[in-house]
Amino acid sequence: MRSSTATHQWRGVIEEYRPLLAIPEGTPTVTLGEGGTPLVRSAWLSYATGGEVWLKVEGDNPTGSFKDRGMTTAISVAVLEGARAVVCASTGNTSASMAAYAARAGLKPLVLVPEGKIAAGKMAQAIMHGAQVIMVRGNFDDCLRLSRALADHYPVALVNSVNPIRLEGQKTAAFEIVDRLGDAPDFHLLPVGNAGNISAYWLGYRQYADLGRATRRPVMRAYQAEGAAPLVTGQPFPRPETKATAIRIGNPASWRLAEQAAAESGGRFRSLTDDQILTAQRELARRDGVFVEPASAAGVAGLLQDLELGDSYAGATVAITVTGHGLKDTATALEGFGDLVDTVVDADVDAAAAAAGLG
Ligand SMILES: *Cc1c(COP(=O)(O)O)cnc(C)c1O
Repeated sequence: MRSSTATHQWRGVIEEYRPLLAIPEGTPTVTLGEGGTPLVRSAWLSYATGGEVWLKVEGDNPTGSFKDRGMTTAISVAVLEGARAVVCASTGNTSASMAAYAARAGLKPLVLVPEGKIAAGKMAQAIMHGAQVIMVRGNFDDCLRLSRALADHYPVALVNSVNPIRLEGQKTAAFEIVDRLGDAPDFHLLPVGNAGNISAYWLGYRQYADLGRATRRPVMRAYQAEGAAPLVTGQPFPRPETKATAIRIGNPASWRLAEQAAAESGGRFRSLTDDQILTAQRELARRDGVFVEPASAAGVAGLLQDLELGDSYAGATVAITVTGHGLKDTATALEGFGDLVDTVVDADVDAAAAAAGLG
C-alpha cells in the first residue's frame, strides 16, 4: 500500500466543483488556487445580534477579492474559445483579477477604468500583471458600455460579470459556506455594486437546495452606498459617488437578477452612508482582525444599521461576505487617523515604556 504523505490542498474552484458548474466540456483550468477562503466567526457581531455571525473573507483570494472566483472560469472559457485578448470595465478589482489570470493564460489584458477613481493597490496589480490600462473620462457605467462595444466590434473577449460564465465561478462561494456550516445560513448579507455577486450567490444557494445539499435558502440582504443606490431607489444614478469605490456604480448590469434574488429569497436592498461603511471597516479590523477595503464592510455596516432600525437576528445564522482586502486601498483606510507615527522616542526601553504608558 502506498502511504499518503500529501495533505489535501485546495485546487481552485473549477477543480473542486467542476460537475456543478455550467461551463463547456473540455474547458481547461486556468487557476491561481482561488476560493476555499476562510469562514470566520465574528464574536462581537454574534454577541451584538444574539445569533451566529460568520464572515466569508474573500480578500484571501489570490488577487485579494472575490473576483478571482469568476475570473478563473471566464478566462478558462476564453482560452477554450481561442481568445487572444480580454477586456473588462472595472472599479479596480475586476481588472486586477483579469490581468493576473490573463497573464497566466498568455492573453492580452485590456482594462477600462474611470479616470482618477481607482485605488492605488488595484491599479498596481493591473499594471504589474501587464495589463494595458485605459482611463476613461467617465464613470464605471461608461467603461462597461465601451467594453461591451469593443467586444462586439473587435477581437477581444468581454469578461465582466455580464458574461454568465463569471457567475458560474462566483456561485462557488455559496457552496463553500454551505459545505462549511452544514446547511445554508438563515441570512446572507453583502455589498452590491454591479450586482453580479448577489446574483451568483443566489444561483449557488438555489442549486445546493435543489440538489438536497442544503435544506433551505437564505434571505438575501444587500447594501449599497447612499450615493450609488439604484437598487434601493429603483432609479439609475447618473453620477454615482462614494468612498467605497468598488460599489460606485449607478446602473448595475445584473439589476434584474439582483432584484430576483431579493424577491425570491424574501430579502431587500438598503443604503448606507459612507460614514457608516468606514466605521464598520474600522470596527471589523479592530475587533475581528479582518482588514477589508471600504466597500467590503457594507454588509457589516448593514447588519449594524438593521439592528439599530429594530430588526432582530437573534438565534439566526448569518453569513456576511467581506468582499476584498484592506491593503488594496490604504489611502482611504488611513484618512482621519492624522499623523501615522505621532510618538518618537530615543532607542531606550524606559523611554518607549513611558511613551506607551506602561508601568
Ligand atoms: C466587485 C466588488 C463589489 C461589488 O460586487 P458586484 O458583483 O459588482 O455587486 C464589492 N466589493 C468589492 C471589494 C468588489 O471588488
